[in-house]
Amino acid sequence: MDGLLQLRAPMIRQYYLAASTEEAIAYLSAHAGDAQVLGGGTTLLPLVLRGKALATYLVDVSRVASMRRIRLEPSHLLLGGAVTLAQMLRSESLPESLAVLKDSAEIAPLSRLHSLATLAGSIVSAYGTSEIAATLIALGAEAEIANLTGSQWLPVGGLLSRPGTCRLNSMSEILVSLRIRLPQPGEGAGIAQADTSEGASGGAPVIAISLSFDEIQNLLSRITVVLGLHGAAPQVSRLDELADGRTATVDTMRRSIAQWATARMIDVTEEAPDRARAVAGAAQRALEVALTRARASLANGML
Ligand SMILES: Cc1cc2nc3c(=O)[nH]c(=O)nc-3n(C[C@H](O)[C@H](O)[C@H](O)COP(=O)(O)OP(=O)(O)OC[C@H]3O[C@@H](n4cnc5c(N)ncnc54)[C@H](O)[C@@H]3O)c2cc1C
Repeated sequence: MDGLLQLRAPMIRQYYLAASTEEAIAYLSAHAGDAQVLGGGTTLLPLVLRGKALATYLVDVSRVASMRRIRLEPSHLLLGGAVTLAQMLRSESLPESLAVLKDSAEIAPLSRLHSLATLAGSIVSAYGTSEIAATLIALGAEAEIANLTGSQWLPVGGLLSRPGTCRLNSMSEILVSLRIRLPQPGEGAGIAQADTSEGASGGAPVIAISLSFDEIQNLLSRITVVLGLHGAAPQVSRLDELADGRTATVDTMRRSIAQWATARMIDVTEEAPDRARAVAGAAQRALEVALTRARASLANGML
């Protein structure tokens, strides 16, 4: 095979640089159960070097051209699975209405790894406090998963329903691309990180919020709140649960999001209430950014 290269890691039998997703899938199936997809390598390569990787054959998809593309379509933004956080930060194809994607890459404390870490790797790693995963779930993003039998689109949230694991099997499947519906006027999204970083292992909790705001009635008609916590699957709450039968005014939502986030943080991580309050603070900041963007989009008729 053309893409075979030497990798100086004794525990790896072969490293294969794929030129297409079809090639990568063929390679995975040729070494079924002993080959794994490699993205930027920021999580996987340290495991390989410590002899803790599951596979001894690696198939690198980071140079597959179709997986490196960022494409704006009339109703969606398409992001290749091998797009790096740095690429997303630099991209001019990202619409202003999805500025939250750049925010998420910016606050990810991966600055030294930005140029390597990919979107797919950030999802598949199932790192509980992943800013990228929380944002994509809040935006209702879908992932295109390809394997030997074909490909299908699945909600990113559904891939991360269990703590610490992704339902995608990176020994037989590839996350090829991500699809995000373009926000309409009145929609906005924001992300914030809780100020609990001192001594926190696994990163500080993050909250991503996307919403739809009816300015005339001062009501929210849709909201998705995603809380990313260390060692947990993303926690998600929506309008019905948050409003709990009340009218979804901004003030009602502000209070119930803060209460929900604090309660989830204590339930899931058994954190003390004062640290949990930092998460409520992050929720307020994310909500204000989302509302500001929703109002701006109404004012500008921005798409
Ligand atoms: C020091 C350190 C700090 C970190 N801090 C954070 C943090 O604060 N926030 C955060 O979100 N994450 C953090 N992470 C984890 C982070 O999610 C990953 O480092 C990175 O984003 C993974 O991307 P990658 O392209 O390097 O993936 P890789 O290391 O290449 O792969 C990671 C996993 O994803 C699989 N994979 C990669 N690409 C694909 C694909 N296209 N299809 C199918 N499977 C694929 C691999 O098989 C592997 O299982 C941290 C990691 C490290 C090492």
